[in-house]
Amino acid sequence: MSTALNARRRQRELAEVTGGRTVDLLVIGLGVTGAGVALDAASRGLDVVAVDAHDLAFGTSRWSSKLAHGGLRYLASGQVGIAHESAVERGILMTRTAPHLIRAMPWVVPHFAGGSRRDQAITFAGFVAGDALRAAARTPRATLPRPRRLGRAETLALAPGVQSRALRGAALGWDGQLVDDARLVVAIARTAAGYGARVLTRVRAVAATGDGAQVRDELTGTFHDIKARAVVNATGVWADSLAPDIRLRPSRGTHLVVRSSALGSMNCIVNAPVPGHFGRFVFTLPQLDGTTYIGLTDEPTEPPVPDVPQSSDQEIDFLLDTINPTLQRPLTRDDVVGTYAGLRPLLSAEGSTADLSRKHAVLTAPNGMITVVGGKLTTYRRMAQDAVDAAVRERGVSAGPCVTAQTPLVGADPAGPAGPAGNDIPGRLVRRYGSEAAAVLSEDPARNLPISDTVPTTPAEFDFALSHEGALDADDLLDRRTRVGLVPSDRAVTEPVAAEAVSAAAR
Ligand SMILES: Cc1cc2nc3c(=O)[nH]c(=O)nc-3n(C[C@H](O)[C@H](O)[C@H](O)COP(=O)(O)OP(=O)(O)OC[C@H]3O[C@@H](n4cnc5c(N)ncnc54)[C@H](O)[C@@H]3O)c2cc1C
Repeated sequence: MSTALNARRRQRELAEVTGGRTVDLLVIGLGVTGAGVALDAASRGLDVVAVDAHDLAFGTSRWSSKLAHGGLRYLASGQVGIAHESAVERGILMTRTAPHLIRAMPWVVPHFAGGSRRDQAITFAGFVAGDALRAAARTPRATLPRPRRLGRAETLALAPGVQSRALRGAALGWDGQLVDDARLVVAIARTAAGYGARVLTRVRAVAATGDGAQVRDELTGTFHDIKARAVVNATGVWADSLAPDIRLRPSRGTHLVVRSSALGSMNCIVNAPVPGHFGRFVFTLPQLDGTTYIGLTDEPTEPPVPDVPQSSDQEIDFLLDTINPTLQRPLTRDDVVGTYAGLRPLLSAEGSTADLSRKHAVLTAPNGMITVVGGKLTTYRRMAQDAVDAAVRERGVSAGPCVTAQTPLVGADPAGPAGPAGNDIPGRLVRRYGSEAAAVLSEDPARNLPISDTVPTTPAEFDFALSHEGALDADDLLDRRTRVGLVPSDRAVTEPVAAEAVSAAAR
């Protein structure tokens, strides 16, 4: 079946599933977790419907640091099982399911004169332990190189924006970086659609049990019932609105967005220690589009959960104050061209939110609805497998074995990115679309040009998002299929182009 998602398919499939039939599995929420559940179930042969109240990747899944983690920080806190699981899932993503969306990213921890030698030794030992996790997860050395110590000159060659006066050298490690978290969700959802899952955005579950849900079509305001043999609630920080027994303690993480040129255009992550908190860091995260993110905070938050969380002034100051001593040219508020904040869907427990377990949970309510919550982007596939196993075990749904560890996502075709069109595909498109890059190019050369000096996105990418990636309006294009919206001034310039593409697609 086609992997293309668009307005026409949505309308047809919504009518199909609200006409009284009973499907095997209804998934509520299309962040990385829900999209993963839809793919796991559909690829095991189940009849699947997956709905989101807004859009693919509307929630936390677009506000992450965009790292496919090896689990080092969990190892540091003694959570060996979670660390190993994370390293295994990172390896699956980088070598089999989504190699086109993830690159190995150098991670530099600079040492300065007067710094603690003990801390330097522990940092390097941490990278070596991370490398051992990589080996235990059977991720090849060719995918993630060996950690090593760098001298002063080597450090400045790799990270020219680092403060050079007192620099002595650095520890160098490696981890996986996603081209974009929302793109991963779109790729998973489209792969699920290719297995026959009906992926329906702008469909809100207003009430749900183990046997189905009442949903509202957010485009028309009409209510419908969807009947299912099993229901999985994958609504992240909103999970308790459908399953009131779940206790969540969301914690907000903020990132700043700056132009990479303000940091000396470094193509590596640079760590800066949080004074007085051993093992806590702020880091720079260079992106493909000429911006760098600086994150991140960890602030407990109180209900109600907003649709789009906002960063506080204190968080912005904290991030600038922490990163600046590590930089050659300290950043000011004027360098901050955008910010974003996300809420971690942490399960309630004692202690600070920084210490809360990042392990996921699969919980079945007395009414039979299964909730999968917690975890992280990197481990979505394992979370999905556990949720579908629970549906098989507890709801009597009959399914084949899980195959997602061997199932490449849309764009991961080993035949390569260029396809029959040859070698003229811009590298930027290959990095974002993998083997689909050729299909994104328009026959109209003007639609293949960047929208502005600071917006490398092309109008042709908007056309593709509307015809293949399930985008329905300009917000979907600006805020989730591309991330132009992370810089408000770029968003303002690009909005008319997105609106024009939406109108053209509707004609
Ligand atoms: C700041 C920050 C940085 C992070 N960095 C990383 C990282 O670098 N690497 C990593 O592996 N993990 C990271 N994480 C963790 C990771 O982002 C989350 O664990 C993951 O994205 C959660 O995905 P989810 O699908 O469970 O939830 P969400 O992405 O929030 O999805 C829930 C979806 O449910 C929908 N929904 C809600 N209510 C309803 C309803 N009634 N009906 C229909 N739909 C509904 C929402 O619209 C939303 O799309 C980070 C988290 C944060 C906050």
